[in-house]
Amino acid sequence: MIFVIAEHKDGKLKPITNELLVFAQRAAKEFNQPVAAVALGDNLANISDELKAKKIDRVIVAENPALAEYDPASYVAALKQILAAEKPFLVIAGHTTQGFDFAPRLAVALRRPLIAGCVDFEKQGDKLILTRQIFNAKMNMKTAPRGDAPYLATASPGAFPGDEVEAGGNAEISKLSIQLEGIAKRKVIGRSEAQKGQADLTAAPVIVSGGRGLKQKENFQIIFDLAQAIGGSVGASRPVVDAEWLPREYQIGSSGQTVSPKLYIAIGISGAIQHLVGMQTSRCIVAINKDAEAPIFKIAHYGIVDDLFKVVPALTKIFNDLKAAG
Ligand SMILES: Cc1cc2nc3c(=O)[nH]c(=O)nc-3n(C[C@H](O)[C@H](O)[C@H](O)COP(=O)(O)OP(=O)(O)OC[C@H]3O[C@@H](n4cnc5c(N)ncnc54)[C@H](O)[C@@H]3O)c2cc1C
Repeated sequence: MIFVIAEHKDGKLKPITNELLVFAQRAAKEFNQPVAAVALGDNLANISDELKAKKIDRVIVAENPALAEYDPASYVAALKQILAAEKPFLVIAGHTTQGFDFAPRLAVALRRPLIAGCVDFEKQGDKLILTRQIFNAKMNMKTAPRGDAPYLATASPGAFPGDEVEAGGNAEISKLSIQLEGIAKRKVIGRSEAQKGQADLTAAPVIVSGGRGLKQKENFQIIFDLAQAIGGSVGASRPVVDAEWLPREYQIGSSGQTVSPKLYIAIGISGAIQHLVGMQTSRCIVAINKDAEAPIFKIAHYGIVDDLFKVVPALTKIFNDLKAAG
């Protein structure tokens, strides 16, 4: 069995869960294994309904008041009990703030290896090989976990296309009771959402991103105008954020957000490796840059070599005219 540890918040699955399910559904076909989604929390009716609609074999639900808020010690204790009862082949969690908090603790508790930040997998003979990116995504490293299952892996956000998750299953729901008395070492006393100027970029299907080529803060308005015309979210390279043209939440790259939209338009962005690692898995990349030698063109599917101050307003006008024409 392949286990996906579902991430959820406020009664809804987080986008990473669909990405993990895609990984699991693909691996299930290669290794001829059933897929189970594991949901930990309290009051999980909505979550188990959402999971049940996916093409998977089982939904394992562990409800306990100690899991109402995420707590690593309780997660590890709960998963240890579930894994001991179910003996899966592979356990996949997100390489997210939550996933890379509890997955190493679980690996230590089980004395099993963890392959973290996976972007792909393959089958060699009957062996599972996991691919992860190293040296700021300049190289891929293939790793085979040693010893007996369960194998533990975290998958990088954006590595698997969440919108390709297969639906239409009729998963059996198993409710497990778990013992967590006295396990939690901390208590959540409140949650405050970070101030958001826009939608969460990690879930945005279209991103229009601007770089230092915009020259000054006021010029960034043409990026917002294009984003609005095509229904996209706005992103930025680091110099834009460092110069305080936009807040940190807009930054894409190794020290910002990792995104994988269907369409990424990079405008006045040179394509430094630290930017590329944050967006190179985007399905379609369009670059607008006056320098034909800019490295962004090496990964772009489409490119326009011209002055962005000419191209961007012209594109915005075309999209607005198309919208007005219905
Ligand atoms: C530890 C570390 C972490 C980092 N993390 C990140 C990160 O998370 N994200 C990130 O983005 N960067 C990051 N960086 C910075 C990164 O190395 C680059 O400096 C940065 O990505 C460059 O941003 P840029 O492409 O906007 O600017 P530039 O490299 O200056 O490129 C500007 C581009 O605009 C083009 N241009 C200029 N004028 C026009 C015009 N009129 N029309 C069309 N094109 C034009 C130019 O040809 C050029 O290609 C990091 C660096 C370090 C050392």
